[in-house]
Amino acid sequence: MTSTTGAVCPHCGWPDAEPFQVVSRHTTAAGRTVWARCGCGSLQVRVVDGCGTRVVSRSRPASL
Ligand SMILES: [Zn+2]
Repeated sequence: MTSTTGAVCPHCGWPDAEPFQVVSRHTTAAGRTVWARCGCGSLQVRVVDGCGTRVVSRSRPASL
C-alpha cells in the first residue's frame, strides 16, 4: 500500500510515512482513522483511504 504524506513532523522531523507508535485504529464511514504518537510525543490523527495516509491533526510534543 502506498502511504505517504510527503511531510515530516514539524517538531522533531520524523517522517510522517513511518509512524513511531500506533496508538489505536478506528474504522469510520470515510475510511480508517489511525492515532499515532510521534517520537517527540506529538499525537497525530491520520486518515487512511484509497489514496494513502494523510495526517489531519497533530498535537504538540508531550515534552513542551
Ligand atoms: Zn515529532
